[in-house]
Amino acid sequence: ITPRGFARYGTDEIARMESLGLSVQCNTTGNPYSADNFLEMAKDSDAIIIGVDICDRAVMKQCQKLKVICKFGVGTDNIDLAYAKQRGIYVGRTVGSNSLSVAEHVAALMFADAKNLYPTIRDVKAGGWCKPTGAELHGKSLGIIGFGAIGKSLAKIATGIGMHVIIYDAFTIDPKTAQENECTIASLDELLEMSDYVSLHVPLLDSTRDMISTQQFDHMKRDACLLNASRGGIVDETALYEALKRGAIRSACFDVYSSEPPRPESPLLALDNFLLTSHIASRTREAERRTCLISTNYILEHLGL
Ligand code: NAD
Repeated sequence: ITPRGFARYGTDEIARMESLGLSVQCNTTGNPYSADNFLEMAKDSDAIIIGVDICDRAVMKQCQKLKVICKFGVGTDNIDLAYAKQRGIYVGRTVGSNSLSVAEHVAALMFADAKNLYPTIRDVKAGGWCKPTGAELHGKSLGIIGFGAIGKSLAKIATGIGMHVIIYDAFTIDPKTAQENECTIASLDELLEMSDYVSLHVPLLDSTRDMISTQQFDHMKRDACLLNASRGGIVDETALYEALKRGAIRSACFDVYSSEPPRPESPLLALDNFLLTSHIASRTREAERRTCLISTNYILEHLGL
């Protein structure tokens, strides 16, 4: 078990696994595992629970006993799914365990953007007293790209504060579901054209890599804000920098980056209209507990225990 949170929030689950006869090795270092630590742990394991550790073909080839992998979260882009399938290794993810936490984080980023939290906190601490004029979110439109577990949670929060929610998904959304969630279904271009805030909630796949680039920025409102708490590779960061610099969009708030942490030389870091957090959207006590429980259940079920 590599995720740091497991040692803290999954003590009951570790005890449950041990009581069923499993020998459990859990990362108790408080730090992420290195690739070497990860391989050392995985190579003799029947099952692994992993975070963002790279579990590609080369790694799996060295793990001959491996039967089950559970992602501590939902994004499985760090796992070679095709090779796992070929080897007959079950791969699960903790669907829905952190969707509320991520949705709340995105809402927090939207509020921070609209209320100028970042520049005012920084300015007042530095002895200043700046008075930027913010905006209300009520009445604004939020475009949600990817209407899965997180997209749906975010839609609920946004409609609750009086935002108009526009949704787009690669799969046809049932109009009844949209109506129940008080959302309007649109094409990607329509969503980009109509939204004051655009939030990404798709997985990182070949089909979603660089899905938001110059052409999409040119479809967006000049006053729009782009939110990304999905995966870094979904936004073309060079095009994002240019869009923010030339005013194609007003601002962007990100929790995820093409390289994590972002490279110190990334020009995005110097922009005042780029607000960022450190891939923490799902990191809440509640989500960690749920994720420990769901991942343990998956492992036990697929080991037949
Ligand atoms: P989900 O599987 O429930 O939903 C994803 C949705 O995206 C699905 O409805 C799917 O149909 C849609 N989709 C797939 N390809 C698409 C495309 N090309 N265009 C439009 N829609 C497309 O997943 P979720 O739980 O909502 O999570 C979404 C993503 O968020 C994850 O894959 C993960 O990468 C990311 N995530 C980030 C954090 C974080 O801490 N920042 C935490 C959890 C998840």
